[in-house]
Amino acid sequence: MSVLLSSVNGVAASLIATLFPSDCRLCGTPLTNISRLPVCQACLIAIRPIAGGTCSVCGERRLSPHDFAAGQDEARCGLCQRLAPPFSKAVAYGSYDGGLRELIHLLKYEQVRPAATAPGRMLAEAIAGLESASASSLAQTPLAVVPVPLHARKRRQRGFNQSELIVRSALKVSRVSGRLALHAGVLGRRRETQSQTGLTRHPRRENIRGAFVVARPEQIAGREVLLVDDVFTTGTTVSECARVLRRAGASKIYVATVARTLKADAKDATLLRNFGVAGQTEPGKTEREGTEHAKTLAAAG
Ligand SMILES: [Zn+2]
Ligand SMILES: [Zn+2]
Repeated sequence: MSVLLSSVNGVAASLIATLFPSDCRLCGTPLTNISRLPVCQACLIAIRPIAGGTCSVCGERRLSPHDFAAGQDEARCGLCQRLAPPFSKAVAYGSYDGGLRELIHLLKYEQVRPAATAPGRMLAEAIAGLESASASSLAQTPLAVVPVPLHARKRRQRGFNQSELIVRSALKVSRVSGRLALHAGVLGRRRETQSQTGLTRHPRRENIRGAFVVARPEQIAGREVLLVDDVFTTGTTVSECARVLRRAGASKIYVATVARTLKADAKDATLLRNFGVAGQTEPGKTEREGTEHAKTLAAAG
């Protein structure tokens, strides 16, 4: 009997091992819970929202004391003071490094679809923050949600558009208001662009110009648009999308991404302290809050 039972357990265990990855895809630790998301709790806990002061327009971390000249709500980074971007406000959940970067790569380059769930919840948090920050207009009007598209060939290759997958997951989260309606086919990508990685701002703009087209202008004409993407690097891609959407009649563009490239890493605490930026989570609170945070992120996993 016990032999039979243990062989049944063995079969079940190997079945589970076949159906579900046994190790965390980020750190390699064996997973204890069965989850469609092959990432452990510790790795999810380590992914934290951007802390400290950010530019009220583009979301870049504010490091220069000049950036603090205006009030907290109005503060702009040097770049946004010099030239206004074609969008009203861009928000991001976390810094594009460490675990968050790996999680996004797991989805994009290893096609692990369940890896869209946690970024979806992070995007939902970023959108909720955007809604509370722009309470006067954003919370009142229905928003057309437009994911940054991939070129058809790349989409076929990957099997999905990660931005669309992430935003679909985000829209299922209760914190996101019912005023958001997904319009996935509004933007099209008519030209494949060379990878933006390694290009500086100016060549990036040249590379992306003319790449996007508004396929269904009637869906956004006269409306406020929430443009969503996985990563905000220099803002070239979302700025080009915002430009064509504005030209097609969108009244206002907001941007929300899961991650953002930041000027300085959060761990560079000395630099941040020198400029008066508040530190990360208080010690002692980190673990409990982190666990709650990870539960929220993993809930739908
Ligand atoms: Zn892990
Ligand atoms: Zn800025």
